[in-house]
Amino acid sequence: MNTEISLHIPPKMWSDFQQSMLESRMLNEEVIGFLFCQRHQVSKRKIRYIPKTWVVPTAECYEHQSTDGLVLTQHFHSYLLENHITPGLDIVHIHTHAGQGIPDFSYVDNRYESEYARFIASSFPKKPRLISGVFDENLQLGKFRIWNRRGREFERVKFCNSLFAISNSQDITNNPDLMFTRQQIFGETNQKTLNQLKVGLIGCGGIGSIFAELLGRLGVKNWVLIDPDKLETVNLNRMTGATQEMVEQNWYKVHYVKHLIKKIYAQVSHVKTVPTIIENELAKQEIASCDLIVVATDNHLSRKTAQELALQYMRPLVCLGTHIEVKPDNTPRMYCRITVPPMGGDWCLMCGNIINLQRAALESAPAQINHMAAGAGYLEGVNDPSVFWLNSICASTAVGVIHGMVSGFLNVDSGIDWIYEFPGSDWRKTDTKYLQTDDCYFCGMNSSVNIVQNSDFDHEDFIVW
Ligand SMILES: [Zn+2]
Ligand SMILES: [Zn+2]
Repeated sequence: MNTEISLHIPPKMWSDFQQSMLESRMLNEEVIGFLFCQRHQVSKRKIRYIPKTWVVPTAECYEHQSTDGLVLTQHFHSYLLENHITPGLDIVHIHTHAGQGIPDFSYVDNRYESEYARFIASSFPKKPRLISGVFDENLQLGKFRIWNRRGREFERVKFCNSLFAISNSQDITNNPDLMFTRQQIFGETNQKTLNQLKVGLIGCGGIGSIFAELLGRLGVKNWVLIDPDKLETVNLNRMTGATQEMVEQNWYKVHYVKHLIKKIYAQVSHVKTVPTIIENELAKQEIASCDLIVVATDNHLSRKTAQELALQYMRPLVCLGTHIEVKPDNTPRMYCRITVPPMGGDWCLMCGNIINLQRAALESAPAQINHMAAGAGYLEGVNDPSVFWLNSICASTAVGVIHGMVSGFLNVDSGIDWIYEFPGSDWRKTDTKYLQTDDCYFCGMNSSVNIVQNSDFDHEDFIVW
């Protein structure tokens, strides 16, 4: 009972979609657009629909388009079904009504949507479902519903087009938390979002642990921690509050980070620890339920996996790393890097060359091959130099970036890639325009504005809204 169903379209994708819709008409005629979405059962009572592709028909695809109705050509519709219905995806269609304010579904909408819900469920083996949305003419305000397969009943669907799908309704207390008094300037909503945000942290070592401490203090109470390693003496130069005693007691790093969070919030926090590698299926499932994925590991394979999960579940990803090298003349160069690939397309860690796929492949190879590769200089060893203060710059900046994403004072729609260099003390910001790729195997998203020639369609068959 009472399952919450939501449709979550990331901000950049929603604005691209909106723009295409508005461009596909002359004045304020009704327009329609389609999204093909994957259903994700986030928890027992929470279902989230994530768009995989979208299509907005151009004016040529309409048989009739006016302020009081729409008729799509059968030809376009066949094209749509043949090319975009991927088994397992459900169909979302959004159309507009003339006027401002949240419109109501009309009698005609009810009739055709009901028929259409039945039609698609009976025409495809995976029985796709229909989610329909109706918006005002400017595509500002609207509502959604999902039909059952028999086209008889529908349920409300919550729409979210922000970076994080946090429901502020489940607010537990109205008393502002004294602990965050000095952060009130950023707004109450911002604090609530932070308090409810569930962060998946992959890598609880030198960078991850500081990151968790800082983001925890900012207000994040819900965590999934993933790291297969145990604390070692060599870690003690850069982990707050870690002790030799913990090393002797064989503490996993995830338990150590949990301990840090529990020191901030004894009761109100939820921390799930998963002491395995991220490639493990259980770890992946836990990450899929998070609102934000953060990866702070020292290898390429886990970063690749994190990026794949972020793309699959359409979650924002923040990637942290540091690197120290010593030049032949003995001067050290130190770097830290914070990368946030855009959610839902344009570029990712793989096509942006932020990680190296060859290395990722080597890291997934059996230990023996790995050993040979390390000998040949393909891999950085575990003896990588690492210092607390540099890791802290990296972790602090990443927490600042997340604070900006949650509060909205930092726009990450095109993604960010910042590299800090020391002792030059330079921040270099990659121009993300150069990272954009059209046909990445990993992040290539099919979005299109379609023109279908009115060649040989059957005039007697129309699809109407
Ligand atoms: Zn309508
Ligand atoms: Zn890519």
